[in-house]
Amino acid sequence: MSHRHRIALIITLTCTPALALSAGFLGWLSPPRDWQLATGWQKIPTTLRPSSSHLWTGSPSAPTLRWLGHSGFLVEWRGERLLIDPNTSSRCTVSRRVLSNSIVASDLGHITAALISHAHYDHLDLPTLAAVPTLDQIVVPTGSEHYLDDRPGTQIHSLTPGESLRVGELEIIAVPAAHHGNRFHPLASRQLALGYVLRAGDDAIYYAGDTGFGDHLEDIAGNYRPRAAILPIGAYSPRWPLAKLHLNPEEAVKAAEVLGVEAVVPCHFGTFTLSLDRPSWALPRFARAAHAAGLRWVMPMLNGGGDLPRNENVLAHRTVSLRRPSRRDAGAPGMWLLRVPLGGGKDVLAHRTVSLRRPSRRDAGAPGMWLLQVPLSDRHTGNRHTGDPKS
Ligand SMILES: [Zn+2]
Ligand SMILES: [Zn+2]
Repeated sequence: MSHRHRIALIITLTCTPALALSAGFLGWLSPPRDWQLATGWQKIPTTLRPSSSHLWTGSPSAPTLRWLGHSGFLVEWRGERLLIDPNTSSRCTVSRRVLSNSIVASDLGHITAALISHAHYDHLDLPTLAAVPTLDQIVVPTGSEHYLDDRPGTQIHSLTPGESLRVGELEIIAVPAAHHGNRFHPLASRQLALGYVLRAGDDAIYYAGDTGFGDHLEDIAGNYRPRAAILPIGAYSPRWPLAKLHLNPEEAVKAAEVLGVEAVVPCHFGTFTLSLDRPSWALPRFARAAHAAGLRWVMPMLNGGGDLPRNENVLAHRTVSLRRPSRRDAGAPGMWLLRVPLGGGKDVLAHRTVSLRRPSRRDAGAPGMWLLQVPLSDRHTGNRHTGDPKS
């Protein structure tokens, strides 16, 4: 072995374990877990959890949201289906996704517009956008258009703060964010980052993207009077330099007070390890701060109490199977854990309250647990049916 090869071997042998150890320490290698564990939900006392998934009441046409993990949402409002910063990938640069997926991008169906707040990898995820079956338009901050791949049938729009775009009955208004969107080189000239206001008639919802605290929040409150806000709460540590770029959970509550909204949907947590705080730390802190301030918050993946697909007819025309869960089922697509209280004899489900949730590794061998395997879609099964369980 030559001298150079020997030095290379020594460097590899010493650096690889050190890199693996630090990656493990930083949480980059943590395996996917079900949403209660990944988001810290299970650490929130029951009395501090939201009791409803409605953004507001008293209006027949409030938007419905579905959290896709991190800062990603599917928004359905006035007949439009919008995606905001969707990222369903299993990695974000070096960080492994810790939230097991309840949805895959290829099952998102027809999307009217995808709104991208800025070009950071956790918000502009090209593989997710590419996997969406049909996508009419993509909206990005001006200057970030060149990151997008050409796609036949998809129009690309770029906006700066104050500019807007009409999508059906919805007005999409770009608003400022205390953040930037430098995708690769941290010292490159600063790329624009946006928030968005979605408005229909007198109702508006504000999506902050990534932002630090700033005067722009007061301006947005005055100009658009949003009824609900989707605010980032995670990736806050260390405060220097992140305070300029990301709200921490308590600042998100203060931002909601400045905005005067009826409810907050927290985001930017529970999915990827992007800083020194772990993905499960932000939500319990946010729940405590929201409770202390009397702020109502909503976690929209909880539709009906579990992260079920929104289509109630999920099992129609499907061949499903029930078996005992194993450790390998944690995070696998199409798997639902059916928890049945013990006892009850032959008619085990009669007069029982049962719940469905995603299986975790701890469920393997636990009493009263049954694994319900639901085929994901026609592409996977060849079955014929009319309802897409994931749309
Ligand atoms: Zn960012
Ligand atoms: Zn981010």
